[in-house]
Amino acid sequence: MAVNQGEDTVQLIKDVVDIAEIIGEHVSLKRAGTNLKGLCPFHSEKTPSFTVNPERKTYHCFGCGEGGDVFSFMMNFHRLSFVEALKELARKYQIPLPEKPLNPQELEKAQKREALQSANEKAAELFHQLLLSDPTAQKAREYLGKRGIPEEITTEFRLGFAPDSWNFLVNTLPKQNITIEAAKEAGLIVPREKSGFYDRFRNRVMFPIVGLTGRVVAFGGRILDDGQPKYMNSPESPVFDKSRTLFGLYQNREYIRQAKNCLVVEGNFDLLSLAVHGVRNVVAPLGTALTQAHVRSLKGYTDEVILLFDGDQAGLKAAMRSVPLFLSEQVTARISV
Ligand SMILES: [Zn+2]
Repeated sequence: MAVNQGEDTVQLIKDVVDIAEIIGEHVSLKRAGTNLKGLCPFHSEKTPSFTVNPERKTYHCFGCGEGGDVFSFMMNFHRLSFVEALKELARKYQIPLPEKPLNPQELEKAQKREALQSANEKAAELFHQLLLSDPTAQKAREYLGKRGIPEEITTEFRLGFAPDSWNFLVNTLPKQNITIEAAKEAGLIVPREKSGFYDRFRNRVMFPIVGLTGRVVAFGGRILDDGQPKYMNSPESPVFDKSRTLFGLYQNREYIRQAKNCLVVEGNFDLLSLAVHGVRNVVAPLGTALTQAHVRSLKGYTDEVILLFDGDQAGLKAAMRSVPLFLSEQVTARISV
């Protein structure tokens, strides 16, 4: 959809949107007079110098000088273009956008992101339905049972099953209005050497990775037989940057804020097992070492992070390596092995 980004629409969205609510999803804000205050999500600090003025609908950081309105926050924090920020806010507040042509590059970029997210959403839905009720998913259900994952968790995290087939998505997605091009760009299917495509994820339990806007941006998959690799993630795409994304952050963000600390575990199953036991202030990086961007995205919720790594030499090494990241972001890190 092309959107009208004329002054009137922009003003309407500004009027309707609660900037404290939008920023408050990512930064713990406390009231300070007429303003709200919190730790700046754009630079490292220990004492809050980031303020939000709900009446003027602006934010400003006295530490690094970042500031602006709800659009600049969306653009800078989520790395969106202006049009994407506009669309995201309009979607959230159910404001219809009258149509108007965009410039061709903006249009192409916005449409591409939209197409990739739709492809991932549709794949997540298909995988989830198979896991819940398809006879071929019996071994996946048994596997989850063995790992102690009950149905509530399966449903909440929308776990799925990718069947042992080279062309399940290749055949199914086009019938559901998802183009082969979008499925390929999202990394769901892979071009064959000569012609045609095959499914990337086969015979795997699937973990949808949800971005902070609540939509599926990628998948992790755990193989169900002796095949390799044991764990596989979607490749990076215009909607998936591995070094900025944490499994479970979307589902667990309110728990992290309430607990005022966050456990970082190594694997998706570690996170789900803790969820089964009611421990929800947890995230898992996607098979990579923690990055500065990971620490920064956690900082919006808490300034204390506890690293839970395997007690072996490699686990300890990985934990030690990430310590400087926390120091530079002024986030307290504790290591528990
Ligand atoms: Zn700042």
